[in-house]
Amino acid sequence: MVHDLIIVGSGPAGYTAAIYASRAGLKPIVFAGSFTAGGALMNTTEVENFPGFPEAVMGPELMVKMQEQAEKFGADVRMEDVERLDLAGDNKVVVADGEEFWARAVIVATGAAYRTLGLEGEQTYAGRGVSYCATCDGFFFRDKQIAVVGGGDSAMEEALFLSRFGKVTVIHRRDELRASKILQERALADPNISFAWNSVVVDMKGEASLQSLVLEDTVTGERRELAADGLFVAIGHDPRTELVKDQLELEGAYIKVASPTTHTSVPGVFACGDVADSRYRQAITAAGTGAKAALDVQHYLESLK
Ligand code: NAP
Repeated sequence: MVHDLIIVGSGPAGYTAAIYASRAGLKPIVFAGSFTAGGALMNTTEVENFPGFPEAVMGPELMVKMQEQAEKFGADVRMEDVERLDLAGDNKVVVADGEEFWARAVIVATGAAYRTLGLEGEQTYAGRGVSYCATCDGFFFRDKQIAVVGGGDSAMEEALFLSRFGKVTVIHRRDELRASKILQERALADPNISFAWNSVVVDMKGEASLQSLVLEDTVTGERRELAADGLFVAIGHDPRTELVKDQLELEGAYIKVASPTTHTSVPGVFACGDVADSRYRQAITAAGTGAKAALDVQHYLESLK
């Protein structure tokens, strides 16, 4: 059986594409992923800037609502990982959990994955102090010394969330934050948050679990030790192109689309959300491009008739 549309990914882009496509009667299959279902917002606390939620909404709750909305209109959401895509032919091949699926159109909405520091300690202390998700692991660090690396919105959000559990030190490689003004102001005003400016983590120490970090001053090169039971790395994300990077044209690390549309370099393949957005990377812009992708698919399928 050849389906009209398969959507790979289940963040705001994938689910919005699914809502639009299912309302257009395309009965899309959505491969949501087994571990990553719901995308980056599953690791977020309060989302204050998604229109329609003046009192804020929790990231995971927002994603569950999007999934429900897509399913209500007939999207077939599967918590399975796509292992392989073959996008070249008229009928695209999608292999998930060892099973082969066929579709006339594919939307790639695989988002972006968190960046790591590239230090050996990240493996040594994985699950024993080092984390990439404050909402998932913050609870384990009640009354402990906590460090957060990064100077962007993610790092400020993580620090603000973690400051309810213990003292937090934000480690940033410059002396100026990248984060939006409102989050900067909140973090700078929080008595439980302090800042290690011009600093990078160069080593991690501990026995059974993480106990301290070795910081290097980016200006003077001096090293010092900082006690830390928990280290939360929040230094940004990289687009998840591993399934498509040899088949679709990329622009930098991102999937290239024929802006303002979501057409990729391969007919019948569309990309939306963070995997194709080096600039905005917001939940609302991802959702917007998801809607565009579903509309582009409708026009494409009509052109095949
Ligand atoms: P980001 O804006 O790219 O910031 C990454 C931060 O990590 C920067 O401060 C960067 O330092 C630092 N960094 C990068 N690589 C590093 C390394 N190897 N070692 C040490 N530090 C490193 O990423 P993000 O904070 O994840 O945000 C991504 C996007 O999502 C942004 O558009 C952001 O606005 C959005 N976002 C929005 C919200 C919200 O509105 N509530 C929440 C989260 C994310 P430099 O500053 O020196 O480059």
